[in-house]
Amino acid sequence: MAILPIVTVPDPLLKTVSTPVEMVDDALRAFMNDMLNTMYNAPGIGLAAIQVGRPIRVLVMDLSDEQTSPDPKYYINPVVIWTSEDMAVYNEGCLSVPEQYADIERPAECKVTYLDYHGAEQEIHATGLLATCIQHEIDHLNGIVFIDYISTLKRGIAVRKVKKLVKEED
Ligand code: ZN
Repeated sequence: MAILPIVTVPDPLLKTVSTPVEMVDDALRAFMNDMLNTMYNAPGIGLAAIQVGRPIRVLVMDLSDEQTSPDPKYYINPVVIWTSEDMAVYNEGCLSVPEQYADIERPAECKVTYLDYHGAEQEIHATGLLATCIQHEIDHLNGIVFIDYISTLKRGIAVRKVKKLVKEED
């Protein structure tokens, strides 16, 4: 499994609206495992394909903590079909906006349909961290990054900090 380079802000790739996957095959599964490996290496809890430069509607996530065994999840062509009126605030971060965090308000619960690792149709009712994370990742598929929800001033500061950080790492 490969570790893929992660795209960071302000790369215009992150504004891309990704296209649906037409076939869940071994090539896609190999790519999703590379995504997962990249996410674990970072480390992070969720990653969208566009964050490694591929504009397809694919997410990987693992919300297990250090005490539990790994719990990789694959979401292909995810669609939010319902959101709760109740909102929840979570201090979000993103591998494409390294070391920057902001409180973001989103629906506390949502229902999502998607294809799983084997291409079978699934539906989940997400609550808590899962609801926040899956909405954050689906935003990536629509060209939205969490800092798009904060003020222009704060977003500018975050982007400048990321640029500096990426430059230092080169
Ligand atoms: Zn993100």
